[in-house]
Amino acid sequence: MRPAGASLLATATTGASSGGRAARRTDGDSVNVRLRADLHLHTREAEPGITYSAREMIARAAREGYRVLSITNHDTITFSDELAAYARDRGVLLIPGVEATVEGRHVLVYNADVAADKLRTFADLRRYRTPEWLVAAPHPLFPAPFCLRERLWQEIDLFDAIEFSHFYTPRVDFNRAAVKLASAVGLPLLGTSDSHLADQFGTTFSLIESDLSVESVLSAIKQGRVSVVSRPLSPWRCLSILARQTLAAAKESARARLRPSPPSPETILTPR
Ligand SMILES: [Zn+2]
Ligand SMILES: [Zn+2]
Repeated sequence: MRPAGASLLATATTGASSGGRAARRTDGDSVNVRLRADLHLHTREAEPGITYSAREMIARAAREGYRVLSITNHDTITFSDELAAYARDRGVLLIPGVEATVEGRHVLVYNADVAADKLRTFADLRRYRTPEWLVAAPHPLFPAPFCLRERLWQEIDLFDAIEFSHFYTPRVDFNRAAVKLASAVGLPLLGTSDSHLADQFGTTFSLIESDLSVESVLSAIKQGRVSVVSRPLSPWRCLSILARQTLAAAKESARARLRPSPPSPETILTPR
């Protein structure tokens, strides 16, 4: 087992032919495949402005060599046995997940056995979490009000992993502080694309040394058997993503204002 803390393969390629299925480790008794994974994805089921559905994302990811995915919509668990079976038919393990808004800050929660609307405070997380969950800090040190920032330090014992975000350029990189923090506290880094736009997918992902089961994958991450594969975005691409996401958010908030009453957080598909 590696020491806690993931290795960062900053210049690895992200094409479908690299990583994923082929890489194997054969030391010790077990032979684990390094599974290509993205555990931070948004889909149209929860955000109407997104152009792809969960099924479309799963089918695309399978074609591109991904083996583990989690749909982590905001305050909404987009997961069902049917969706997991759809993924399984394509060789993909789907892990139930949610990007919960906890006291105004984003927190990624996997394999939770409570409804998303139960996760409103850090005290809620402490009360409900079990050893079967995985809790990760997305884009934790970015300068936005919904990022954990100082709360990450205050609540660090709740977290199993720190996200390495796709959203950075060679010069502007808020991941640097997260990498330092992860190393200082001995937590693994999890590379994700946080896709809201189709072209975010594939920019950053993880390789996890694990069997293809929810329990194995989550425990492999906790044990640091995870590597980040990433390359910085060009400044132009970064700006383009920012502009399109800002526009989509503005459209969504205009739509929300026109609705008769605001929607409450809900589970769109079957929770588990
Ligand atoms: Zn977020
Ligand atoms: Zn997100």
